[in-house]
Amino acid sequence: MAYDNDNIFAKILRGEIPCNKVYEDEFALAFRDIAPQAKVHTLVIPKGAYVSFDDFSTQASDAEIIGFVRAVQKTAALEGVVESGYRLLANHGVDGGQEVPHFHVHIAGGERLGALFSRR
Ligand code: AMP
Repeated sequence: MAYDNDNIFAKILRGEIPCNKVYEDEFALAFRDIAPQAKVHTLVIPKGAYVSFDDFSTQASDAEIIGFVRAVQKTAALEGVVESGYRLLANHGVDGGQEVPHFHVHIAGGERLGALFSRR
């Protein structure tokens, strides 16, 4: 799947639409989810143009991958959920339910989360 430069997270990275920023460095940007599913629900995205985890993990440089993982930890720490615990989630593709085609990790916490999977 080719990267779509007009996806909403690409626009956030370019500063064309606002976000509620939590953390930023040369590798990543973290901001609050616009429709939070938990008391803490924050997204971390790489600065590079990667469609999903599959694209990122196969195409990104070692420095980008390390920088991104460190940024996820820093974001969790800034959100105050390291002690209490949190869940990381990355949706890839149709069956994963990915809506925005720019790789992102969800950090969810701030309360006891329910079961990971539901069958509706
Ligand atoms: P996913 O289903 O993993 O692709 O998740 C996409 C997430 O992006 C959803 O949780 C949305 O609520 C969130 N989202 C969509 N647009 C925005 C936005 N402009 N700012 C912050 N979060 C957004």
